[in-house]
Amino acid sequence: MKASQFFVSTLKEAPADAEVVSHKLMMRAGMIKRLGAGIYNYMPMGLRVIRKVEAIIREEMVRAGAVELLMPVVQPAELWQETGRFDKMGPELMRVKDRHGRDFIIQPTSEEVMTDIARQELRSYKQLPKNFFHIQTKFRDERRPRFGIMRGREFTMKDAYSFDRDVATATVSYQNMYAAYQRIFERFGLQFRAVAADTGAIGGEASHEFQVIADTGEDAIVYCPSSEYAANIELAEALPLLAERAAASQALSKTATPGKSTCEDVAALLGLPLTQTVKSIVLAADELNEQGEVVKTTVWLLLLRGDHEMNEVKVGKLPGLKAGFRFATVSEIEAHFGSKPGYLGPIQLLKPVKVVADRTVALMSDFVCGANEADFHYTGANWGRDLPEPDLVADIRNVVAGDPSPDGQGVLAIQRGIEVGHVFLLGTKYSADMKATYLDENGKPQLMVMGCYGIGVTRILGAAIEQNHDDRGIIWPESIAPFRVVVCPIGMDRSEEVKAAAHKLHEDLLALGVDVLLDDRGERPGAMFADWELVGVPHRVVISDRGLKEGLVEYQGRRDAEARKLSLAEVLDLLT
Ligand code: ATP
Ligand code: MG
Ligand code: MG
Ligand code: MG
Repeated sequence: MKASQFFVSTLKEAPADAEVVSHKLMMRAGMIKRLGAGIYNYMPMGLRVIRKVEAIIREEMVRAGAVELLMPVVQPAELWQETGRFDKMGPELMRVKDRHGRDFIIQPTSEEVMTDIARQELRSYKQLPKNFFHIQTKFRDERRPRFGIMRGREFTMKDAYSFDRDVATATVSYQNMYAAYQRIFERFGLQFRAVAADTGAIGGEASHEFQVIADTGEDAIVYCPSSEYAANIELAEALPLLAERAAASQALSKTATPGKSTCEDVAALLGLPLTQTVKSIVLAADELNEQGEVVKTTVWLLLLRGDHEMNEVKVGKLPGLKAGFRFATVSEIEAHFGSKPGYLGPIQLLKPVKVVADRTVALMSDFVCGANEADFHYTGANWGRDLPEPDLVADIRNVVAGDPSPDGQGVLAIQRGIEVGHVFLLGTKYSADMKATYLDENGKPQLMVMGCYGIGVTRILGAAIEQNHDDRGIIWPESIAPFRVVVCPIGMDRSEEVKAAAHKLHEDLLALGVDVLLDDRGERPGAMFADWELVGVPHRVVISDRGLKEGLVEYQGRRDAEARKLSLAEVLDLLT
């Protein structure tokens, strides 16, 4: 590829709305271009990375036995009504009407369509197990799109769905996908961790998230350095929200007794017995105006008693529900919980309440972390938090350091992560709702046992950059760089030798299957080098008259401090 034919468009400054380094660098490197809130054009340079990410995922999915298909972006509402998700999913689900007034959705995920295909196509036990996947555009009307394509509204996801005869074989399918994900993220060259996770609105029986470790991550993970234990604290959406709502929190802290009020106090006050089965939940409820802007936020503490099983409440009873807490409008919360026992209304006593200076606050109460498995939760992740946000990471670390791990194998630590993949063992949740059955050996219909498996294709780009960059720009891992090698000729317009050598090296590398770009734009060396350092190409070869006289070129790896003089043969050897 020649730069003059390709499209290179770099910027000196990042736009003001870019908060995190990956968003800034992707904008500056001309990888994405904003079209609207959370909606981006994937520009040629960025698209090359996306295609490489997709290729690796596709290869490993096929290797693991999954079959590719492609399901539509726009899907009829009827299927979503069969599972109840048309109503349950809340404002994140984009609903549209056609010219006849019929309801459709823009897919945020594809369980319903997939299950519909399976119930028609997979009729016999002989056809199972089966695993289908696609790499497709998704739309989620996120409450707070940000960080560029890391939390977009439109994004690309690889989603896969497995169908099995029973839980035992479905577990094998799940483990197979888990292993495929390990390979995929290893091939991306990213530092990641698989953590036990909540099953959220999708529901189901077991779930792991693949988290790329980065201090700017929206998720907080507890893990035990001396064992395999790792779980998501499921605060991804709560923390930024709470930071935004410092004012609301302040009001709460005034009515609580600083440092003294506890869940026990609340329970005593309300005459509730506080037993081991009581779980507490923090809710932040937003009131929106007609423009969809938040005009008021109320923070609630909800105590759940034994008769309110966590799972029952957790799965889909309220839109946008996440483990142990969620966001919903005040009226939704009241409509659902208003008349039920265990609902305590908007109250102002939180545990523990810590007043820091005169702003403050603290709000966490016995969050339940991790897998939906009895005795495998880490509960009591309580911390006070000072604002502003940068103190947060340190804050969390301080509180958790040293707490015993639930598996008894050591102590817990905390780190931040970016959720790049998620595997679920769904069980029969969707097959039951949609009557997806197969005939067993005895000709008896049985519900198919399902799993579903997502990877945030476009989010990978942001996560990779959060982990791999310096003050000059992006440092792409080899496997997903837009180009692996750039050839930079100096003075090509003046020197026939340089021009000939640059073209020859470009062609030789191409012939050897190396993904190489020749920068024939005629830029000055400084500007040219700055561009490719910003874009993050892993290898650079500089060709100049001076070097050619000695029969040498200059090679520099993107992480190298200095360039090295090598012969052309040595360069070819190094890059192939
Ligand atoms: P998050 O907790 O970040 O909102 P999620 O749990 O809602 O993600 P899943 O339903 O598990 O997401 O979807 C599978 C994958 O799709 C996620 O692991 C993530 O990598 C990616 N993804 C989800 N939402 C977005 C988004 N708004 N922008 C980009 N990628 C996303
Ligand atoms: Mg989400
Ligand atoms: Mg999540
Ligand atoms: Mg998820």
